Amino acid sequence: MPYGIIVTMPTIIAVDIGGTHMRAAAYAQNKQSPVKYKKIATLASKPGGFERLLSVIEDVWPKTDSVTAIGLGSPGPLDPHSGYLLAPPNNPEWHNFPLTPKVEEHFGVKAFLDNDANLAGLGEYRYGAGKGHHHVLYITVSTGIGGGVITDDRLLQGYHGLAAELGHSIVDPDGPPCSCGFNGHLEAFASGPAIAKYVLGELEKGTKSVLKRDANMTARDVAEAAHQGDELAIQAYQRAGTYLGIGVASFLHVFDPSIVIFGGGVSQVGQLLFDPFNISLRQRVFHPRYLEELVITQAQLGDDAGLLGARALAEMKSGL
Ligand SMILES: [Zn+2]
Repeated sequence: MPYGIIVTMPTIIAVDIGGTHMRAAAYAQNKQSPVKYKKIATLASKPGGFERLLSVIEDVWPKTDSVTAIGLGSPGPLDPHSGYLLAPPNNPEWHNFPLTPKVEEHFGVKAFLDNDANLAGLGEYRYGAGKGHHHVLYITVSTGIGGGVITDDRLLQGYHGLAAELGHSIVDPDGPPCSCGFNGHLEAFASGPAIAKYVLGELEKGTKSVLKRDANMTARDVAEAAHQGDELAIQAYQRAGTYLGIGVASFLHVFDPSIVIFGGGVSQVGQLLFDPFNISLRQRVFHPRYLEELVITQAQLGDDAGLLGARALAEMKSGL
């Protein structure tokens, strides 16, 4: 190498805009852990959100290395094609907000945006449980149910950029109302709040249980009661697992993945949910070939999935 030439490493900046925290990280190529990392409070309801976002990116910006692209993850709904946030929860300042164009204008670098569930799926595909797979179905079961689909090594974004809302699949048109207002979506049966709501409804009907009628009941409380042998609590998880199997059977028919990755707190409950899930899934898949060599597993990246997904999006869109 001739003297006097400084060799710079291409860097990707990834940002995860969460409800409570904004996190940014700078990644050098071929290294999974970030070179620089910064986390600040989102303060979604307070003005100045965009300035806070710029400052957290500036904090991780490399001093000498060049930045290839910026990947941005945010709760939806959003338009990944135009880079506009449409109506992020709890943040009126960012309704119809041109996030990607404004970030590109400020930093002079290409930026790419997608929603948190799609990016968690993309992160698991590239850096986590889905490594080596080309067809990945990622489902997060938590307060809501979200999804990310990678097919033929490409993230499915859709014409409007609104794919893949797996939690809003209709599994029973006469089912309970979903958080979105429509009835019978998978999320209305198998999310954490849906599990607690079912138990509360049964308690109101007089079903016996160690659980008491408490509006603050969580899926975790129900899981604890189930582990003590409480019939109603076990039944609540059986119902959730059964509907999750109904949903995933349809997703196998549509996407035919080689791996299904479960993220989110509710999916960490183990057999309580996955025993009925597995039975339900196998009963409903219309050809056994869908299940051949199919891996069903837990997410590996935890809290880092969103950041690594934003990184993966920026890398893949930049041809890296
Ligand atoms: Zn819904």
